[in-house]
Amino acid sequence: MIVVLKHGIKKEEVDELATHLKALGVGIHESFGENTAILGLVGDTSGIDAESLKANHLVEKVMRVQEPYKMANRKFHPDDTLVRIPTEEKDVVIGAPNFTVIAGPCSVESRDQLTGIARAVKLSGARMLRGGAFKPRTSPYSFQGMGCEGIDLLLEAKRATGLPIVTELMSVKQLELFDNVDIIQIGARNMQNFDLLKELGHCGKPILLKRGLANTAKELLMSAEYIMAGGNENVILCERGIRSFDSFTRNVLDLSVVPFLKRETHLPVIVDPSHATGCAWMVEPMAKAALAAGADGIIVEVHNNPEMALCDGEQSITPAQFESLMKKLRKYAAIEDKDL
Ligand code: PEP
Ligand code: MN
Repeated sequence: MIVVLKHGIKKEEVDELATHLKALGVGIHESFGENTAILGLVGDTSGIDAESLKANHLVEKVMRVQEPYKMANRKFHPDDTLVRIPTEEKDVVIGAPNFTVIAGPCSVESRDQLTGIARAVKLSGARMLRGGAFKPRTSPYSFQGMGCEGIDLLLEAKRATGLPIVTELMSVKQLELFDNVDIIQIGARNMQNFDLLKELGHCGKPILLKRGLANTAKELLMSAEYIMAGGNENVILCERGIRSFDSFTRNVLDLSVVPFLKRETHLPVIVDPSHATGCAWMVEPMAKAALAAGADGIIVEVHNNPEMALCDGEQSITPAQFESLMKKLRKYAAIEDKDL
């Protein structure tokens, strides 16, 4: 971090600031020009709050030369992180060279619905089952999910098919119900629920962290850092579209964030073409594009009867469409040397 000091600052003032910063655990290189003094902060600057330093009356400007995320940063961990989900059959490994497909309904609605979809997507090659039991809905009057019963149905579907499950956690209070859930999903709306993220740092389970509706890629990385700083390094990042001015899709799928994240971090990155587009017929082209962009997998909403779905029917594809998607993705995966 580089701290440029105000014009005409006295040597005693520079020393005073340097002493204050050293006490925060960093080394200081002082350099004095004719009119300006500059402090170079070396070592671990993650504990230095650049914003409050800018507020110091001696400081002109502050520039970070290194990203504030250390654990998620590829610079300090050059190899790809692989997130392993043990199963009775072959373990699911999320991360290169695998392209992992997670599929299932937006929300768990009934035993028949969930188990039927689970069997179908497994036959077509999905490696994990998704399904929301606790649903973050915009309206308090919309279906809020089946709650604990939904978790029980997911566990039943897991036993019936052998597919590991991923489901959304909205509150720390629900955590005790997630003992047998394989991956905890943190939805877009909770990406910056820092208390929840801190709790996940010591929950011992892989986390699927979705990008917030209006969050930058760096904010997503800082949220991953919260979980990792607490001791949990099994974080999977998910691009699910961000808000923009155009409404022809539900969100704007920021595909360029995939290569950016893959370069910036060692964590696996997956794409959710369902929430990104909000539209079933766009799922296939965007799933193919995600693979081509270098994603480590996709999470897709599949419903046996989209017209009657209690949530997100418009963007849900049918099991038959999913089967056809998987066939096409296999060809794309071969070109990209990915294992699907
Ligand atoms: C979901 O996966 O059903 C969901 C609510 O996703 P998001 O948090 O990305 O909106
Ligand atoms: Mn949904």
